[in-house]
Amino acid sequence: MSSPRLQVLGCSGSIAAGSRTTAFLLDDSVLIDAGTGVGDLALDAMARIDDILVSHSHLDHVLAIPLLADSVMKLRLAQPHRGPIRVHALPETLDALRAHLFNGLLWPDFTSIPSPARPILKLEPFAVGDTLSFGAGPQQRRVKVLPAAHTVPACGFAVETPAGWWVYSGDTGANPALWAALKGKRIAHLIIETAFGDDERWLADLSGHLAPSSLAAELAQLDGSVPVHITHPKPGEVAAVVAQIRAIDTAHRVEPLVKGLVFEF
Ligand SMILES: [Zn+2]
Ligand SMILES: [Zn+2]
Repeated sequence: MSSPRLQVLGCSGSIAAGSRTTAFLLDDSVLIDAGTGVGDLALDAMARIDDILVSHSHLDHVLAIPLLADSVMKLRLAQPHRGPIRVHALPETLDALRAHLFNGLLWPDFTSIPSPARPILKLEPFAVGDTLSFGAGPQQRRVKVLPAAHTVPACGFAVETPAGWWVYSGDTGANPALWAALKGKRIAHLIIETAFGDDERWLADLSGHLAPSSLAAELAQLDGSVPVHITHPKPGEVAAVVAQIRAIDTAHRVEPLVKGLVFEF
C-alpha cells in the first residue's frame, strides 16, 4: 500500500472568517464530508473528486455537494469515461439529500442532470460495518464505516494507512459502539469531535455531541495512548475547549485539529 495523504479542508463547527466546516480530502479523489472547506479547493482540484463519503445529513457536512456538482459539471462532462461523482452515505442520509436538498426547490436534482442517463451525481448507500474500497493497485484505499450516535442517522470513518487506522468520529455523543468497533485495532490518529465547551454540556447532550467532560469518558475507553485531534468546536471556542479537555484528560496527546493540516504516514 502506498501512503495515503489526508488533508483537513475544514474542521470547525460553523463558519466565520478562517473557519470552515468539516471536510477532509483523501489523496486527491475522495472527499470525506463536504462542508464549506471544500470551497477553498481550486476548481481543477474539485474536478478530480470522484467519491464523496458523507457522515450524516446535517448542512455543515453536506452543503458543498450541490455547489461542487454545479462547479465541476462542465469539466466533468468533458471526460465522460469518469462517470458520475459517487456520493456514499447511509440510506437514511441519501433519502434526506433526495427529499430536502436535491428536490428542485432548494437545489436542482443533480442526480438526473444533465440527463437521467448521464447524471453528474450518483447516490450509493453503505451500512455501518462496511469496508469501502477506492482506487486500485498500490493506490487502493480501504475505508471502514464506523458507528456514531447523533440526532440523525450518522457514522464515522476509518482510513487504513501503513501506520494504522486514521479514525474520524463524525458528529457523535457518547458512543460505546465506536470503542467496540476499534477494539484491537492500531490507531494512527483519532479525530474526534468536541462541539461544545463544558458550560454548554447540557446542549451537547441534547444535540448528540461531545463536550470536554463527556469526551474524557469516551477517551478513557481507548486502548493505550494515541494522538487525539479535536474537531468541530464553534469558531472562537477552540482554545477554551482544548484547555478544558487538557485539564481533565492527561493520558492522551490532545491537539486542536487545524485547517490545512496534512496527515502523511
Ligand atoms: Zn451533525
Ligand atoms: Zn456537524
